[in-house]
Amino acid sequence: MRFKTLCAVAALVFAPLAQAAFVTLPETRMDAIFSQASFGNRTVDIRFGPVTTIVAPTLLEITSDAEISEIFGLHSGGDNVVNFYFVDKVDACSGFNTLIIGCGEFPGNDFVVESGAAAGTFGAELLAHELAHNLGLPHRDGADFLMNPVLLGGDDLSGAEVNIILGSSLVQFDGNNRRFIQINPVLIVERLQQVPEPSTLALLAAGVLFAGTRPRKSRTFE
Ligand SMILES: [Zn+2]
Repeated sequence: MRFKTLCAVAALVFAPLAQAAFVTLPETRMDAIFSQASFGNRTVDIRFGPVTTIVAPTLLEITSDAEISEIFGLHSGGDNVVNFYFVDKVDACSGFNTLIIGCGEFPGNDFVVESGAAAGTFGAELLAHELAHNLGLPHRDGADFLMNPVLLGGDDLSGAEVNIILGSSLVQFDGNNRRFIQINPVLIVERLQQVPEPSTLALLAAGVLFAGTRPRKSRTFE
């Protein structure tokens, strides 16, 4: 088994307070990042599969490397399918614990992000950064670079970095000889479904009652 290390990405500002996790998939922005000039005619299409929802209350807030291992152990799909996990908070990643908003295998096929950060201004850059770790890219310091360890909105990839990406087994070819990466989003939830509150049930009952007492339309015969 290939040894995987973990790589964190941090934010300069504090992420919003914990909230229910949700999925954000900025496909157009990510396609643009993996089709930028340094790719030449070897662009990579980002493709998302259906969202898998997993009930795992203890993994909504990642606070230890053990929980990172646990969540990455939930991997769905083959080895060439990447899993994006969406949680409330990521507060641990291979010894890092300050201002972390995401953590990905380097290389590998799993990463986890805070859903609030993924929905934020630099959400596409966050997801692309972690995906690039999966593809084998290390950090590269510089505000314009996608692989800057702190998320500043840069998305530049060098020709050398593109060559590493294209050498990854995660990059597949479709029937039209087009390069693509298949990604399965995974949403971590506390429970599978919200139970309707009594007031909602009462309204529903009132609605049913109303429908039942509506005057029937008289039928006409010809
Ligand atoms: Zn990173």
